[in-house]
Amino acid sequence: CGIMGYIGDGPAVPVIINGLSKLEYRGYDSAGLAVYQEHSLQISKKKGRLNELVEAMGDYPPTGLAIGHTRWATHGIPSDMNAHPHIDCSGRIALVHNGIIENYAGLRKELMLKGHDFVSETDTEVIAHLIEEYYQESLEEAVRESLKHLQGSFAIAVISAEEPDKIIAAKKDSPMVVGLGENENYLASDIPAILGKTNRVYIIEDREFVVLQKDMVSITDFDGRPIKKELFPINWDP
Ligand code: GLU
Repeated sequence: CGIMGYIGDGPAVPVIINGLSKLEYRGYDSAGLAVYQEHSLQISKKKGRLNELVEAMGDYPPTGLAIGHTRWATHGIPSDMNAHPHIDCSGRIALVHNGIIENYAGLRKELMLKGHDFVSETDTEVIAHLIEEYYQESLEEAVRESLKHLQGSFAIAVISAEEPDKIIAAKKDSPMVVGLGENENYLASDIPAILGKTNRVYIIEDREFVVLQKDMVSITDFDGRPIKKELFPINWDP
């Protein structure tokens, strides 16, 4: 029930692990992360506590792009396979999701008819395949198009092996914040996950869409209209 993303000079993985550990209070049954390295995404995920994931992972690439998740299972038992991130058929897209996709069963059927193979029992996996279905050149456009088909609650963060300069994120009825750093930026479910790193924070509201790059953050509505955000005043120490 926590998501975390990092893009910057890196290494991303320790930031993700630390951030997820700060979200432990939200409760979880599995943890996982996707890290970009050399034109591909390396996925590690595990049922159980965060330290079990860390032990199972061993060495990780010291690169500057990763997303992570702690799961509170709603659809599909807690298992390694059902843990996030979820990927598309090609393995080039990885996604973490907090929330519930209410119309996942219908979407799953449609996507299976189009040839998508599903490997988990989660509602979340349909989002990865939906994005794959719409993905031509722009991950941003593919996610925007996919959102039009989703009912329910979501905070999602998506990365692509083909566009390693960005994290795409969107929120509706699940929490999300963005943290601004120097040549690095953060995404998380809640402020404690990034408080040790920055106190320049945007609270993301429902139906806001984020493109996070290491030196730029764009926030629009789902239709692409720019939204002017104020920094959230933070008056406490990490
Ligand atoms: N509904 C998703 C699942 O069961 C996400 C749960 C969560 O928010 O952790 O995998």
